[in-house]
Order: sequence, then structure tokens, then C-alpha cells
Amino acid sequence: MYLVADINVEICAQTGCKLCMQFCPEPNTILYNDRLGKYGAAYVVVDRCKGCGQCTWVCDNMSKNHAIKMVMIDQLSVTALTENVLYGERSTTVLPTPTTPTT
Ligand code: SF4
Ligand code: SF4
Repeated sequence: MYLVADINVEICAQTGCKLCMQFCPEPNTILYNDRLGKYGAAYVVVDRCKGCGQCTWVCDNMSKNHAIKMVMIDQLSVTALTENVLYGERSTTVLPTPTTPTT
């Protein structure tokens, strides 16, 4: 297991400054969806994230928004994965599909 960046869409969407996108060293790893929130928000393509934490520093210290946390990949919320799958229509990345409990 390893750490990946997880963006809180509600916090990010308050400004959607896109600074993290400019500083992430991995190409096409932080993307932006202008349909998220009021002004749009960034999201992480988790299987491209190398867990360097640079985006967290940028969001905390440059943007002052504290919207990104590093989490173990197996601790991402199902919501985050589900949203990423939906967001994925703008990317070519195949992301993990959350399992839904059968009743
Ligand atoms: S730096 Fe923070 S607030 Fe700005 S786009 Fe990235 S996650 Fe959103
Ligand atoms: S942790 Fe590093 S590789 Fe992952 S999204 Fe943030 S800046 Fe990019």
C-alpha cells in the first residue's frame, strides 16, 4: 500500500485555483472538472499519483486552502473512487471500480 493525494472537492471548489496542477511533477495526474462544485474543482487520477506530497504543500502554503490530504490508497473513500470513475470520462485512465454490496 502507498500514499496518494486525495482532494476534498468541496474545499477545492471554493476557489479552484489550479495551482496544484502546475506543480505536480507527474503529467496528467491532477486534472480539473469545471462541473464540480460552483466553479469547478481539481481531482487526482490516483493510479498516476506517485505520492510525493508536493500538491499538498502547494495547497496548504500557496493556495492556503488545505484541500489535499495524503491517504493510503486503500483508504480512499468509495465516493472518491466513484467520482474519479465519473471524472475519468475526461481521461484515458482506467481507475479501480468500487464494488457495490449486493443484497
Ligand atoms: S491547490 Fe488546492 S484549492 Fe487549488 S486547485 Fe489544487 S486542490 Fe484546489
Ligand atoms: S502527491 Fe505528487 S504525484 Fe501525487 S498528485 Fe500530488 S504532486 Fe502529483
